[in-house]
Amino acid sequence: MIVKSQGIWLTLAQDSEGPRCGAAMNDLSEAKGQALAIQGDRIIDIRAAEEIFSLYESDQILDWGNCLVMPGLIDPHTHPVFLATREDEFEMRNLGKSYVEIALAGGGIRSSVRSLRSATEDQLTDLVKERADGFLALGTTTIEAKSGYGLSTADEIKSLRAIHKANAEHALDFHPTFLGAHEIPDEYRDNREAYIQLLIDEMIPAVAKENLARFCDVFCEEHVFTVEESRRILAAAKNHGLQIRIHADEIESTGGAELAAEIGALSADHLGAISEQGIKDMRDAGVVATLLPGTSFFLNLAKRAPGRKIIDSGVAMALATDYNPGSCHTQSLFMIMTIACIHYGITAAEALTAVTVNAAHTLGLAHDRGQLKVGMRSDLIGIDAPNARFLPYQFGSNPVRHVVKDGRVVS
Ligand SMILES: [Zn+2]
Repeated sequence: MIVKSQGIWLTLAQDSEGPRCGAAMNDLSEAKGQALAIQGDRIIDIRAAEEIFSLYESDQILDWGNCLVMPGLIDPHTHPVFLATREDEFEMRNLGKSYVEIALAGGGIRSSVRSLRSATEDQLTDLVKERADGFLALGTTTIEAKSGYGLSTADEIKSLRAIHKANAEHALDFHPTFLGAHEIPDEYRDNREAYIQLLIDEMIPAVAKENLARFCDVFCEEHVFTVEESRRILAAAKNHGLQIRIHADEIESTGGAELAAEIGALSADHLGAISEQGIKDMRDAGVVATLLPGTSFFLNLAKRAPGRKIIDSGVAMALATDYNPGSCHTQSLFMIMTIACIHYGITAAEALTAVTVNAAHTLGLAHDRGQLKVGMRSDLIGIDAPNARFLPYQFGSNPVRHVVKDGRVVS
């Protein structure tokens, strides 16, 4: 297959060890009038269009006109396995109820847990596949996907199996995360220690034994899991060969970022209340900060992660949707880039680096995707935009015109 476009090509191809941080996040490599040759699921060449056409023959030539061409987007934090949506809570919040009030009245994560437990694995698989269509149509070709609305061994395993089935049957790539430590389920409200023991002694070993997840995540937050509890759960996960990501310091600064650095997490996420020490520790340990600006926007929180400061402090930043039925119901990384630019004071180039190269790093996939480069996976998208700055500038519409995943046209 050969893909050509007269528009801008964002190859993001400067080589660097590890994720991009500081000024390197602003480095975009742009070219014009390129073409790219694909064999199987790999990019085998990229150069001026006339050279590609003199070197390769193909019966499948895709002419993307004036589209901007860039690597498929990577969403490193999503919760796509749920049954019921929660638009009623969205309206309640807009009419003045707080997220905490709604949670105390039985809404929030706990309502998603009740509904997920009533669903079959096949029902969940079908829903996850439908949602995968949504991600691909919006230019996202790889996602990290968490369980976390089951909160029992059987329901967490059911959720992770749904992700695996969807991954096998759908073009979108899923990288599964076990998030049994998303909340304390109702039946353990009076005995949280017993739930933590269940996570450590039964759920994590079961997930690891069936190879159902690459990562383990914990919601480390005041009123959810303390730093000490999170440390025990994540240590057990590490012992079972899982890699670590953490929901850290979203609302209160409890030392989640520091724990992420201590335990060698790939990513610490949210960070709305990260401390000075947390920023330093993450930089020194090379933990990526995955920020979720859609969530603070959707919950209308005044407190936002210090995105500008995090980049300027030398911590590598990634961006994700946090797609979930409660606190952020969007699948669009373009929308996320717009909010990030406005709320964090960052550039289009920094936002693009955050949803490609750096997002790939948080999933341990930077050798394989996140850039248009020879040898990389042939995941690429064609966007109706004249230049890179236009991407976050235009919001609320889908600019994606073409999607190629693993060398196949999928959208
Ligand atoms: Zn989340």
